[in-house]
Amino acid sequence: MAKVDLRSPIYHDETKARAHLESLLWPQGPVCPRCGVMDDRITKLEGKSTRPGVYKCKDCRKPFSVTVNTVMERSKVPLTKWLLAAQLMASSKKGMSALQLMRMIGSNYETAWFLFHRLREAVADPKGGPLGGEGKHVEVDETYIGGKEHNKHTSKKLKAGRGNVGKMPVVSLVERDGKTRSFHVANVTGKSLRPVLLKHINAKSRLVTDESGVYLHVGKEFSGHGTVNHTAGEYVKADGTHTNTVESSFALLKRGVYGTFHSLSEAHLHRYLAEFDFRANTRNIDDAARADALLTAAKDKRLMYRQPD
Ligand SMILES: [Zn+2]
Repeated sequence: MAKVDLRSPIYHDETKARAHLESLLWPQGPVCPRCGVMDDRITKLEGKSTRPGVYKCKDCRKPFSVTVNTVMERSKVPLTKWLLAAQLMASSKKGMSALQLMRMIGSNYETAWFLFHRLREAVADPKGGPLGGEGKHVEVDETYIGGKEHNKHTSKKLKAGRGNVGKMPVVSLVERDGKTRSFHVANVTGKSLRPVLLKHINAKSRLVTDESGVYLHVGKEFSGHGTVNHTAGEYVKADGTHTNTVESSFALLKRGVYGTFHSLSEAHLHRYLAEFDFRANTRNIDDAARADALLTAAKDKRLMYRQPD
């Protein structure tokens, strides 16, 4: 595994940071984000009054830079800091808090928080096709994330019930030796999970879950449904049926939530899930390549608040 060198000039020199980002997002050279034209249709603008990294398209006559249509667009934060934040997120198995990033890049808390959330937005993958397929196993399990009720101030405690009350349910789908996709769901019932499973898992897959009743009916809609009975102390069946992959993924997520982030709000939970899924899905590449993959994913992510041109 290549070790990440934080002394690399891309984290200290804005020109080198920009060149690195351009090589990732424009492997064949600059492309006009409006017309898609390249090569001799593009001129690099140079001169003392021009901002660095600005190109002009001869077709639409509009200037652009490598950050157009990325989560970095219109950010005042130097690219060196974006690149370092991406590297730190890519190489921190349990995630990194905005407070820690703030110390490492020497910014204020809001900037650090913004950087990490934009990067999480970059790796969220809403367009991915279904997991699994013929001969593939997809493990599904649910867990609950959130503050422990007894730690909350009395006025904020939810009075009703015990156990998972006040926590946020998360369901993860893990293709064995494949990709992970996690969702924050409103509640864990057969009715609420069915559309998620049918949309994100190929029906030719074999579904593997615990014996929870919520998977009983939807299980029949897949080519097979294996279950393990955890309450009876069963973890791996003789035929190899198990949900150990999805459970390890939850273990890591919980270490991040309770050890790194301490608390996270429901409004942002899906972004943290995207971050953990991204690291799981790039587990076979080294930290430097994962940071590059993260930055590459920032392409074509128009921000929700972006004003139309
Ligand atoms: Zn153009």
